[in-house]
Amino acid sequence: MMETFVQDPARKDWDTYFMDIAYMVSTRSRCPRRHVGALLVQGKKLLGTAYNGAPMGAADCSEAGCMIVEEYELMLVEGAEQVTKKQRCIRTIHAEQNLLLFTDRIDREGSTVYVTDQPCWTCANMLANSGVKEIVYHRAYPKDSEKVLSLMEQKGIAFRRLAAYEPPSQSGVSVIS
Ligand SMILES: [Zn+2]
Ligand SMILES: [Zn+2]
Repeated sequence: MMETFVQDPARKDWDTYFMDIAYMVSTRSRCPRRHVGALLVQGKKLLGTAYNGAPMGAADCSEAGCMIVEEYELMLVEGAEQVTKKQRCIRTIHAEQNLLLFTDRIDREGSTVYVTDQPCWTCANMLANSGVKEIVYHRAYPKDSEKVLSLMEQKGIAFRRLAAYEPPSQSGVSVIS
């Protein structure tokens, strides 16, 4: 019998539903450089939401400005290694880390995390130890991709990108990287 790949329409619907919510959550972020939203989903039940932001009660980026650090990144440009200077805001706690701070371990066991952006290395490392069994994201973050993918493979965590997904227009998506 010939196997054909059939997309599960129900799955696609749930993915869109939860990713739309993640984008709406991301609009709460006060960092002008990046708005990230993350959700904890257990058996189609939404158990937590989080976005990137300064600790509660501390000045956020809209009040105190971004806290910028400069980093040098080694990039491969047309086969040649090239050092590029990048700026990053470190005032905020990443959405995934806030999600872990505000959810319980027992709720995370076997759960799915929906996140607007592919997790950075630190977030991926923490998620890998959090009980989560699946991570679904939309926007790619190539910088850490290789080591994050290999970690997810080692841990047996499903790691899916919704490449065809389009964020809702109300989320006012804009990214400066
Ligand atoms: Zn900022
Ligand atoms: Zn992160």
